[in-house]
Amino acid sequence: MKFQAPKGTHDILPGEVERWQWLEERTRGVMALYGYREVRSPIFESTDLFVRSVGESTDIVRKELYTFQDRKGRSLTLRPEGTAPLVRAFLENAPLREDSQARLYYMGPMFRYERPQAGRYRQFWQIGAELLGSARPEADAEMIDLFRAVLHDVGLEEVTVLLNSLGDATCRPAYREAIRAYFKQHEGKLCGDCKERLATNPLRILDCKVPSCAPVIAGAPSVLDSLCPECAEHFEAVKRALTGLGIRYEIAPRLVRGLDYYTRTVFEIHAAGLGAQSAVGGGGRYDQLVKDFGGPDTPAIGFSIGMERLLLSIGADAAPAAPQADVVVIALKPEAGIEAQALARTLRGQQEAPERRSPLRVLTDVAGRSANSQMKWASKMGAKWAVFVPKGEDGYAVRDMAAGKDEQRQPSIEELRSWLLKRREPVESAR
Ligand code: AMP
Repeated sequence: MKFQAPKGTHDILPGEVERWQWLEERTRGVMALYGYREVRSPIFESTDLFVRSVGESTDIVRKELYTFQDRKGRSLTLRPEGTAPLVRAFLENAPLREDSQARLYYMGPMFRYERPQAGRYRQFWQIGAELLGSARPEADAEMIDLFRAVLHDVGLEEVTVLLNSLGDATCRPAYREAIRAYFKQHEGKLCGDCKERLATNPLRILDCKVPSCAPVIAGAPSVLDSLCPECAEHFEAVKRALTGLGIRYEIAPRLVRGLDYYTRTVFEIHAAGLGAQSAVGGGGRYDQLVKDFGGPDTPAIGFSIGMERLLLSIGADAAPAAPQADVVVIALKPEAGIEAQALARTLRGQQEAPERRSPLRVLTDVAGRSANSQMKWASKMGAKWAVFVPKGEDGYAVRDMAAGKDEQRQPSIEELRSWLLKRREPVESAR
């Protein structure tokens, strides 16, 4: 084989794609219930957008960006995440700012140059939601509730919500220094990357996945002990709101997440059965990002869910291959090919007014195969009926494929169509 899908990418094929479509539909339904509207932003943006938001010292920016120059020498990057593009779109498009609480969501592929493994890809899909315009704990609670609602709607109930607060510009600097001092004492036990992080961004050490760093991280001071009174009160209020909504959570004082723009609340949702990559998704507050991008003071919070991981966690059973056709129109001789196509088109009802259209799925051969091979193909496609052209003296011949039995002839196209419609099986929605 000359070409292969690039490392870390995967094709989503028929048989599997039905589950993706199902997940997308369910998610859109839940988003609509909560009043969130979709934004489809470009999959590439100016490189600076990500460097300035995700943060120069994060793994994503240092090691994982797909960056290229276009023909005019502009530096562009395939988006590694969806929040920065959405904030950019929010600032660029006044209609998104009409409501002082903007509720937006996105769904689409993200790109990170990571080491591929189960549940980790270089192109992966995310569903994300953002609520811009409120600093209040109710917004945090709505976000986590919405996250849970998306999972609940696709049958994922057994999850763990991890919750932490990273403080804000008032209290984080002191915590950063406390943690720098702590890790400095244990520098000898840190991995090479963490030694670098000690100088650039010591908070990132808490996110290190290298096993030898784990014991040192476990002993690090808790950010929750350094929160200023306002951040501490916000955190308490978020916890009260979650309890009020009946959402259970665990406090995870070392949860920092891999992006620098977070302030105050951060959270992750983990599901069993995902192995090492157990986070289905996560999110947090980013009260400074809109302002950092030159916009008005706009506190905000969001989350993103990995679609591959979500599908993995709700079970890998592929949807039963849905039949591709209800009816196959078979040309008994090569000259009848066009008649077959015309009949197929009429049977699909596409020329009819929308309310009269029928969900008959009709296929016809375009490879000039013999009537015999068309019959075999019709069974393979799962067709319930075969209809033969040219039309005979007494009408269209119809065969029940499963019973292998010829039915009464149908004198006209209209009669043929209503006969088939009466007997069609409902198209099952995939799961
Ligand atoms: P993040 O944007 O890093 O907060 O990631 C949010 C979610 O996206 C994670 O919890 C995963 O479910 C998913 N995700 C992140 N990176 C990858 C990846 N490389 N491959 C597959 N899913 C990913």
